[in-house]
Amino acid sequence: MFMGLPEEREMLLSKLTGEGYLKTEKVTEAFREVPREMFVQDSDALSAYGDYPLQIGCGQTISAPHMVAIMTELLKPRKKDKVLEIGSGSGYQAGILSKLVSAVYTVELEPDLVNLARNNLRRAGCSNVEVFLGDGRLGYPQQAPYDKIIVTCATPEIFQAWKDQLKVSGIILAPVGGFYRQDLVLLRKTTKGFEKESHGGCIFVPLRNESI
Ligand code: SAH
Repeated sequence: MFMGLPEEREMLLSKLTGEGYLKTEKVTEAFREVPREMFVQDSDALSAYGDYPLQIGCGQTISAPHMVAIMTELLKPRKKDKVLEIGSGSGYQAGILSKLVSAVYTVELEPDLVNLARNNLRRAGCSNVEVFLGDGRLGYPQQAPYDKIIVTCATPEIFQAWKDQLKVSGIILAPVGGFYRQDLVLLRKTTKGFEKESHGGCIFVPLRNESI
């Protein structure tokens, strides 16, 4: 039975908390503040609080809520952080982060999705996010250095530009691997180099070299 979106949202938050994906009060609160129904297609509004990915156009998807929860918690967002996202898509992940950090810059390859993300974020009242058209493999040097870089498309490697644009003690979180499955990798920059942690298997749409 459909109960209404605020109730559906609370049900999803309880489920994600019970399953251990949402771990902190502040990330849970960010999920409460950002209406996912504004980031999905109108015809999917009633499915906005199901825990699965949905099509957003251009063959791309908004990630499942538990994946957004896992990545947001792993980033350990702090109020003073400046974050770069690769792969804006619907803008939802950027919107969640915008509630937790000082500024989010997000790069998207597909012009239609740049417009979609900008509109969704404006409607949802997320003001400290800027969406740029570009090839995310190059990062976004204009606002570097970043405290955190989050990649939301499957990447064959951690590109040098991302490493260069990260502050010392900063982290890069990215699904690294092939088409069917990737490993969620967390790379921490130290004065001596990079430390790698692996956070399990995941499935994202692939990073592309050119727009569709
Ligand atoms: N974070 C998004 C989901 C991203 S889906 C959300 O919350 O909705 C992955 C996105 O990465 C797609 O929009 C795709 O167009 C984009 N993408 C793929 N290759 C890219 C590249 N080289 N540079 C920037 N964005 C890219």
